[in-house]
Formats: sequence, C-alpha cells, structure tokens
Amino acid sequence: MKYLYLLGACGSIGTQTLDIVRNHPTEYTVIGMSVGSNLDLAKKLIMEFKPKIVCFRKMEHIFSIEYNPIVTYGDEGLLQVARYHQFENEWLVNALVGVAGLEPTVEAIKTRKHIALANKETLVVAGDIIQQLIQEYQVTLLPIDSEHSAILQCLRGEDDRQIKKLIITASGGSFRNKSREELEEVTVQDALNHPNWQMGSKITIDSATMMNKGFEVIEAHYLFQIDYDKIHTILHPESIVHSMVEFQDGSVKAQLGVSDMRIPIAYALAYPNHTETKVQELNLLDLNLHFSFLSKKRYPCLEFAYYAAQKGGLYLAVLNASNEAAVHLFLKEKISFLEIEHIIKKEIYKKEYERDSICSLEERISVGREVYKNILKEYGEIL
Ligand code: MG
Repeated sequence: MKYLYLLGACGSIGTQTLDIVRNHPTEYTVIGMSVGSNLDLAKKLIMEFKPKIVCFRKMEHIFSIEYNPIVTYGDEGLLQVARYHQFENEWLVNALVGVAGLEPTVEAIKTRKHIALANKETLVVAGDIIQQLIQEYQVTLLPIDSEHSAILQCLRGEDDRQIKKLIITASGGSFRNKSREELEEVTVQDALNHPNWQMGSKITIDSATMMNKGFEVIEAHYLFQIDYDKIHTILHPESIVHSMVEFQDGSVKAQLGVSDMRIPIAYALAYPNHTETKVQELNLLDLNLHFSFLSKKRYPCLEFAYYAAQKGGLYLAVLNASNEAAVHLFLKEKISFLEIEHIIKKEIYKKEYERDSICSLEERISVGREVYKNILKEYGEIL
C-alpha cells in the first residue's frame, strides 16, 4: 500500500490522480489532501476519499466535515499536510501550480516522503537543492509529466554514460500555426485552447509561450543529471512521441502514447510497474507523425529559460517569478500575450542577480517574491 498526500486535488492533475486511485483501491490510500476554491468538487472528493488531514486554500473556505479530519488552510496548511506522517511508504503527489509548490516538497522530503512531482516550479527554482535533499533523506522523486516520464522509461536499464542526448518533444501550444505578427492580436480565450492536452490555465499559457518547454529542459537537467548542451527540443504537433533518448551508438529510444496525463501519473504512482489506466488505446494505424525545428526566435521564452539555466542561482528564481507574474497579468487581461515575453526579458537580463550563484532556498524564495510583487505593482495589480 502507498499512502498519498495529494496537493492540488481539485486541479487537472489532482482529479486525474484520484481517478487512478479509484481504479486501484487496494494499492493507494489518500491520507492528506489540499483543495482549491471549487468547493463543490472539494466536498465531493473529501467525502469520497476521507483523508485524515485536509488543507483549504483560505480560512473562509473551510466547511464542516462530518467525519472530523484535521482541517487547516493556506500556505502553512500545505506545509502541515506535507509534514503529517503516519505510515512507512508515504508519497507526496505535488500538483500545485507555481512556486507555492516548492516549500511543501522540501517539507515532505524532510519527513521522508517520496515525491511524485507535477509542480514544475519546484525543480526550476531549486533543482540543485532538491537533489541534495533527496540524497540526504534517501527518498525517491519521480516526475508527473509526459516528457520526463517518457525519458525515465527510455532510460530504464541504461548506463547514463552512454547517453548522447535527450530529445524533448513540444506540441507547439495553442498558437503553433501563428506567426509572430499574428500573436499581437491573440486573446486569453485563444491561448487557453490547447490542441492536444486538457490542462490548467497557467500551464496552458506556458505551453503557448513555450516557457513550459524551457521549464522542462531545466527539470530534465536536474532529474536525469544531464548537461544542458545534451538536452534538445523538437516540435512534434501530434503529442504522441512524448520524448526520446539518443545513445552513443546512434540508437534512439522513444516512448509513445495517447495524450492523456493519466499515463504518466499512473507510472509515477506504480513505478517501475505499468498498471491499468483505462485510457484510450493508441491506434498505430491512425498515426501520421511530424517533427520540425523548434526555433528560439519564434519562441523567445525558450531562449530565456536556457539563459537563466546557464546562469543558475537567482536567475532561475527570477525566471519563474517574472513568468508567474506575467502569466497572471495576461490571464487577468492586463497585458497582451506578447507582453509576457517582454516582462520576462526585461527582468532576466539584469546583472544584479549575478551576486549569488549558490544561494539559499530562502533567498531564492524572497527574491522571487520581490520580483513577482514589483511586476504586479507596475501594472496596477494589487496583491
Ligand atoms: Mg509536459
């Protein structure tokens, strides 16, 4: 039995994780859960899975629950769920959005929970620190992301020294058929309309700007301990080949599957096993796969991510914070789509963040917060 603490239970990854749990009641039990502002869904999920500890987003969201679990709320509540400890084989499934997911991951590792990570920002901002903690506390961290799940599967049984490169595929997001000029006019609704994947709004925008792929390059660097010059990206509009690994002898391994997040979720939960997911079967006869060059000129956010990754330290915190602020402003219709890139670019090439390349977790979080707040303030958004 694996005992799960699911952060972000009401979101896209959260509900799909619970779908897997529903199908495997003898393998997984939900012990902790954090829920968002969709209170009807929260009520339904809490009553169905009856976790022992529940974290609400805000105090005013708390409702009475008849079986009396421990109830908490806010950022501190997330840490309480991450810290809660009762069993041996405990897993934190982190499906939170944004840098809010970072500290709960750290806290969970310190209570010796294994991590199934869908929260990208954890590794983007603090991949080096998380890797050290994993070593120190002897826990496992597995990705919940189709690309990293693909690489993980391709690397099973292989010798890392024989890897020539990782090839991460990108669907191209909602605007893949638009030129830079055409991007001037696009709306929030257009951006949220992803052709292949049903995802939360932040990650759908990150896919449209390609920052999502930039984040995935950084995550791959930390997850698989591979140099950045060996991590390549390629456009693959069908999202069927989820990523590839090329080896020294010219052999290329790929993992294929339908675009359904329940596959990488199930693999992270059952690793190294492949369990029943009830997803649609991949029909090879229907496939017509395409690959093309992914241009950093067309998608400058990818360039920003590689730049910040090479600089390291505070630059990764700044990359994430400026992106989080810009995406927030875009979703609130305060800025245009292309302004997302301008905001990040303005922040990321500042020299002042060079002061500290091996900075503490606290410093990264506080610099990130400062950058986020300043950008929002500049656009008249009150926190
Ligand atoms: Mg992905």
